Amino acid sequence: MRKTKVVIVGGGFGGMFTARKLHKLCGEDLEIELISKINYFVFQPLLPEVAAGTLNAQDAVTPLRNLLSGVHVRLAEVTAVDLEAKQVILLQGQKKLLQRVDYDHLVITTGQIANLSLFPGFEDHSLTMKDLSDAHRLRNHVIECMEMADVTRFADIKQRALTFVVAGGGFSGVETMGELAEMIERILPQYPNIQAHEIRMVMIQLGNRVLPELPERLSEYTLEQLQKRGVEVWLNTGIQSATQQAVYTNDERSLPTRTIVTTIGNGPSPFVQSLPIKLERGRIPVSQQLQVIGVENVSSIGDAALIPLNNNADSPAFAPPTAQFAVAQANTLAENLVNDTRGQPLKAFQFEASGIMASLGGYRGVAEIFGRRVSGLPAWVVWRIAYIGMLPGIATRIRVGLNWLFDYFLPRTIVYMAESDRPATRYLDYSKGEVVQRANEVPAGFYVVVRGRLKQELHEPDGEIISRELQAGATWGSRALKESRLTHGKITALEDTKLLLVGSEDFQRLRNTYGPLNELLTARQK
Ligand SMILES: Cc1cc2nc3c(=O)[nH]c(=O)nc-3n(C[C@H](O)[C@H](O)[C@H](O)COP(=O)(O)OP(=O)(O)OC[C@H]3O[C@@H](n4cnc5c(N)ncnc54)[C@H](O)[C@@H]3O)c2cc1C
Repeated sequence: MRKTKVVIVGGGFGGMFTARKLHKLCGEDLEIELISKINYFVFQPLLPEVAAGTLNAQDAVTPLRNLLSGVHVRLAEVTAVDLEAKQVILLQGQKKLLQRVDYDHLVITTGQIANLSLFPGFEDHSLTMKDLSDAHRLRNHVIECMEMADVTRFADIKQRALTFVVAGGGFSGVETMGELAEMIERILPQYPNIQAHEIRMVMIQLGNRVLPELPERLSEYTLEQLQKRGVEVWLNTGIQSATQQAVYTNDERSLPTRTIVTTIGNGPSPFVQSLPIKLERGRIPVSQQLQVIGVENVSSIGDAALIPLNNNADSPAFAPPTAQFAVAQANTLAENLVNDTRGQPLKAFQFEASGIMASLGGYRGVAEIFGRRVSGLPAWVVWRIAYIGMLPGIATRIRVGLNWLFDYFLPRTIVYMAESDRPATRYLDYSKGEVVQRANEVPAGFYVVVRGRLKQELHEPDGEIISRELQAGATWGSRALKESRLTHGKITALEDTKLLLVGSEDFQRLRNTYGPLNELLTARQK
């Protein structure tokens, strides 16, 4: 007889724990397949520590196959669901071949993605904190800023490089800022040309306190700790836009910086948006039994789902998007899937978190556990013990424990591993007065003005300065790239301006391969 097949999309807290519990409950009676676009489980609360170099990126994650014996794991990106045919549609392998996979019951646990579309410039000029590659990128970016600040001759470049901004004062914002502050404090002695007072760390928080999920006293303690470590906290302030060189706020302040980390602005992924399901508050509406409303044989849990905690239409309450809740939902869902196959009634999801805690870096933390409020070193110790206990897989626990031990005794490494995943071709935004390019720089690539106006000042060999205006459609950079020489002009934005930068290597390859482009550019240069 054919076994019932449960397909789980997503290998995070919701998906991985559902698969594990389901296999534990029914062994080989069910066929379980977990599809994830990455082949490892990320314990997201540890990401700020990866960003700060406390933990090695690879040591903070666990391969799904090691955690899920008896479950078929498929590395693929699900792009759509055919509800009528009961199939998921996915892209698989290097060539991204389209495949269809049958299911009897589908579980959607794909989490949420950073959605920064409301804030112009943030998608191109800020760093997010969602997955391992984000944490890895932030760590390298901070080291790159320190290296640059140590050697630059320009005061404005140094100031921008040494200004670190975190947007959002919730758990991930506070933990990221705390860890960054500790990292910078510890690596500073390795940069003799940077003084501690030149470093500026700013947290921008829309509400009137940080960590609003915690009691007021712990929020105040957190604020004090951040301030003690030199972090400026801008309360009651919203982010508005960002450029290549600055962040702008809703009270018309601007802060020149190269580093903006955003921990706010979550939204549904393109896959969740593509589902033939009407989303509520950007999430998949489910019943208390975790079944997607109006759709048979499909469940959803974790951050992707809107899960009611009561039946009260007047004051509805929904499960918060936290790991603790996702794991509890996974347990209920696994039991319900088994009950369903056995024709037994389904359980309603109910859960009360036993505690809530955050690490502030520098051996400080805040926690509320079983109603008791703890702060400082004891809270930080509780945080570490609790998290090592929650990590799935003994090997990962040992690796994380050893990383913590080494970090206590050894200096933080400042090995800089160049970014590889930032697109070479990307948009850049500049505000009025910001300098896009100076003379004698290695050209970053070929620029196209998408909108706005710029002033180009060319320094001729006889000392004359020729000034001209560049508008939408104007381009520059091809000649400097072709002749392998440094830039000889200064370019400044005259108004808010958007540029497309085609990275130098990509541009040279295109030019060398595609004859008509080469001819056009050569003709324009004459
Ligand atoms: C920096 C940070 C710190 C946090 N700290 C805490 C904390 O201290 N305590 C706490 O309780 N919570 C914390 N959280 C929140 C917690 O991590 C989330 O609530 C939890 O991860 C949600 O689990 P999930 O399974 O819904 O989604 P995720 O864990 O995000 O997993 C989603 C999975 O789906 C996969 N996926 C997505 N789309 C597709 C697709 N189309 N096809 C295939 N696979 C796909 C992803 O690769 C991923 O594996 C933190 C979150 C962050 C970002």
